[in-house]
Amino acid sequence: MQRRDLLGSVALAGLAGCARRAAKLAPQAAPIRAQSDRIFRVTVCLRPFRAAGPRLDVERVGDQTVVHNYGHGGSGWSLSWGSGLLAAEKAMATGEREVAVLGCGALGLTAAIQLQRAGAKVTIYAKERPPEVRSARATGSWTPDSRIALTNAVAPGFPALWEKMCRTSFHTYESYLGLAGTPVEWLDRYQLSDVAPAEAQANRRQADTLGFAHYQDRIADITPKSEDLVRHPFPVKYARRSSSLTFNIASYSRQLLNDFFVEGGRLERREFHTPSELRTLPQKVIVNCTGYGAKALWKDDSIVPVRGQIAWLIPQPEAHYALGYRNVNVISRRDGIVVQDGGKGEMEGYNDDNETPDRPAAEALVQGVAELFGRLRA
Ligand SMILES: Cc1cc2nc3c(=O)[nH]c(=O)nc-3n(C[C@H](O)[C@H](O)[C@H](O)COP(=O)(O)OP(=O)(O)OC[C@H]3O[C@@H](n4cnc5c(N)ncnc54)[C@H](O)[C@@H]3O)c2cc1C
Repeated sequence: MQRRDLLGSVALAGLAGCARRAAKLAPQAAPIRAQSDRIFRVTVCLRPFRAAGPRLDVERVGDQTVVHNYGHGGSGWSLSWGSGLLAAEKAMATGEREVAVLGCGALGLTAAIQLQRAGAKVTIYAKERPPEVRSARATGSWTPDSRIALTNAVAPGFPALWEKMCRTSFHTYESYLGLAGTPVEWLDRYQLSDVAPAEAQANRRQADTLGFAHYQDRIADITPKSEDLVRHPFPVKYARRSSSLTFNIASYSRQLLNDFFVEGGRLERREFHTPSELRTLPQKVIVNCTGYGAKALWKDDSIVPVRGQIAWLIPQPEAHYALGYRNVNVISRRDGIVVQDGGKGEMEGYNDDNETPDRPAAEALVQGVAELFGRLRA
């Protein structure tokens, strides 16, 4: 592996102010400009986590059929197409062809499009639509088993069902690659560490006192292998490179909305306070994709909030990669550079429903990224 192939060679060249040499090297690998004045917003989102995994059953409410499709924890975007397909199949099995979808986040939009593809006429009813929805404040990575369930709480058939949803989603995402606006793309990701990767992983596992489920082994055949970099320019002992499917959620959400409208979909802004209010809808089949909102609407106390905050740095198209180091994860998306705290692993933000952004914490995190790149300069 040649040093010049790596991200850091450019970072070093750029940081040393060697403009002539930097210009010769891959322009997509510049250093992240981690300065607090470049934080253009701080967002918070609550993951709708259920120990038993997402709620996907079918329920009768009066003379209506409700297909549930909520509670996907930290995997909502990743599993959305597969979960939406399952919901669409159940809705179509009723014989009805006019279907209501509650919710316009990751799960609502994809379920609506899956229903249209199956031949249904769909109306989405939602209190918020993108970019207001919680889904719009997600990291935007392929993380299909992030806070999806607890190993000991799932039904025996859940791992296989997860795999099915996962594979459907993964293959559907293929069709969103290479489109104008880059809704979906692959990014190189560098995992940096001062201790050996196996030790780092053991430390993360130790921090998980609840036993979150991990099913990556089931999809090894569709997961690019990561490689340990023997020579690398980072100021750390270990660096590992992998490829990460990334969702540029601003353009991806618009693409989904467009796809929905092109197929004749209708979107109506409505808020529901109890399931009995669904009676006012003309549709007899309803797909419930209300995410964390289901906790109040459906009185589902099994939903646990898992808080996640993101500091958004001004986009840098020339810095086209993701990296993780100590507690910080950075993803250079087209619509903003995501800087996120992952220090407690899956436990980070568990059972915290505070949706108020914490600007000082965001600045401290960005300072950590600045220090990493500062050490590169030294
Ligand atoms: C910080 C963070 C980072 C994340 N990163 C990733 C990631 O990288 N990859 C990944 O796959 N997942 C990620 N997730 C998880 C993912 O964001 C969620 O699983 C997903 O957003 C859930 O989507 P949803 O459509 O179910 O819910 P939401 O986006 O919350 O949408 C719910 C919809 O229902 C509507 N609604 C709710 N209640 C009512 C009501 N009473 N009446 C009418 N309408 C209602 C809302 O208005 C909205 O339209 C992340 C989550 C967080 C918090």
